[in-house]
Amino acid sequence: MKEYDVIVVGGGIHGAGVLQAVAAAGHSALLLEKGALASGTSSRSSKLIHGGLRYLESGQFALVRESLRERAILLRIASELVQLKPFFIPVYRDTRRRPWQLRCGLALYALLGGFDSSTRFGSVPRRDWGRLDGLQTRGLDAVIHYHDAQTDDAQLTRAVVQSAMSLGAELAMPADFIDARLDESGVTVQCRLAGSMLECRARVLVNAAGPWATSVAHRIRPAIGVPDIDLVQGTHIVVPLQVTAGIYYVESHEDGRAVFIMPWKGATLIGTTETPYRGEPDKVHPLPAEEDYLLGVACRYFPALNGVTRAQILDRFAGLRVLPAASQAAFDRSRETIFSVDRDPNPRVLGIYGGKLTGWRAAAAHVLGRISGSLPAASRRAATDDLILRRA
Ligand SMILES: Cc1cc2nc3c(=O)[nH]c(=O)nc-3n(C[C@H](O)[C@H](O)[C@H](O)COP(=O)(O)OP(=O)(O)OC[C@H]3O[C@@H](n4cnc5c(N)ncnc54)[C@H](O)[C@@H]3O)c2cc1C
Repeated sequence: MKEYDVIVVGGGIHGAGVLQAVAAAGHSALLLEKGALASGTSSRSSKLIHGGLRYLESGQFALVRESLRERAILLRIASELVQLKPFFIPVYRDTRRRPWQLRCGLALYALLGGFDSSTRFGSVPRRDWGRLDGLQTRGLDAVIHYHDAQTDDAQLTRAVVQSAMSLGAELAMPADFIDARLDESGVTVQCRLAGSMLECRARVLVNAAGPWATSVAHRIRPAIGVPDIDLVQGTHIVVPLQVTAGIYYVESHEDGRAVFIMPWKGATLIGTTETPYRGEPDKVHPLPAEEDYLLGVACRYFPALNGVTRAQILDRFAGLRVLPAASQAAFDRSRETIFSVDRDPNPRVLGIYGGKLTGWRAAAAHVLGRISGSLPAASRRAATDDLILRRA
C-alpha cells in the first residue's frame, strides 16, 4: 500500500493550495479529485481576487486585510492569471450607500491594503461618464472608482496543481474518495480510481471537498465532529453585452445586495445570487427566478440590456457557498474559513469549510501550520509566496 504524508480530497482551489503548500514544505502528498480540477465551486465563482469591500460593513477587518495582502501576492506571482481591473460604483439619487460613505469605506480599504498604488480611488468626472459602456446616467449623482483584481478561477486552480506537481506532489483523477479509517498513526483511505478500488495511507487526510466536505467527513471512522454549515447557491449569467471599461459594482434595487457586472471572454458576466440550498451539491443549477433577478438588476444600470430574455443568455452556472449555519441572511454572514480537526494537537484529519478563492494561499499555509505536528521532519523545497504560477 502506498504511503504519503498527506492525502487531500478535492481538486478545487483549497485542495490545490494545500497540495502545493505541503509539497513546498518537502512532504509527499496525493490529491484525489472525483471529476476534473476546479469542476466544483472553483470554476463557478465571481472570479474576483479582492479584499471584499463590502465585508467592511460587517466589521470583517482581519479578513479584508488578509485578502488584500493575498491580492498583492497573487498580482506578483500570478501576473498571467490575476489582473488588476478598474471597478466602478455608480451612485444614483436612490442608491442606499452615499458617495461619502463609499469614500470612507475605500479610505479604510486603502489603509488595510497598506496604501500601495493599487488602493488609489476617486470619482469619474461627469464628462467621462459617456465612456462607461452605456451606463444609465439618468439620476446618476457620482461614479466612484477604485481597483480590485479578476482571474480565471479554473485556470488559477490548475496552475496551482501544476506548481504542486512540479514539486513532486501526485494527482489521482478521476478518483472518488470512498471512506477512511483512523488509527493512532494516521489514516487508511479508500478511493475508486478508474473503476477499481485503491487503498493508500497517510499521516493526515485533508478534507477540501468544498460543498461535499460534510459528506466526505461522514465517511470517516471512527466518526469525527463536523461543523454545522449551510449551503447557499450563487448563480451567474453571461449576456450578449460588451462591457470593457471595467467591473461595475451595483446595488440591487430589490434587496440592496451587491451585484457585479463584469467583462468576461468578450461578453458580460453578471452575478450573483444567494439562494438557500438543501439538495445534493452535484445537482445545483441556476434557477429561472435567479436569472430574472440578475437580468432585472443589470437592465436598471445598462438600458441596452432591456428586452434581453432568458433565452438569450449565453452561459449560466451556479456554485455553492459553504457558510456557518445561522438564521441571518447569507449576505451578512461571516466569510471566514472554518478549519476543523479530529484532535488537537497532532490531527489526523483536517476539514476546510467555506473560505474565499482570494485567500487560498493563506488558508493552505494555515492548514500546513495546523498539521505540521503530525508530519515527519522534512526540508523545505520552496515558499509559496515566491512560486510563480503560470497558465496550465
Ligand atoms: C457564487 C460564488 C461566487 C464566489 N465568488 C468569489 C469571488 O469572486 N472571489 C473569491 O475570493 N471567492 C469567491 N467565492 C468563494 C470561492 O469560490 C470558494 O471559496 C472556493 O472556490 C471553494 O473552493 P474549494 O476548493 O473549497 O471547493 P470546490 O472548488 O468546490 O472543490 C471541491 C472539490 O472536491 C471534489 N470532491 C467532492 N467530493 C469528492 C470525493 N468524494 N472524492 C474526490 N473529490 C471530491 C469536487 O469534485 C470539487 O472539485 C465564491 C463562491 C460562490 C459560490
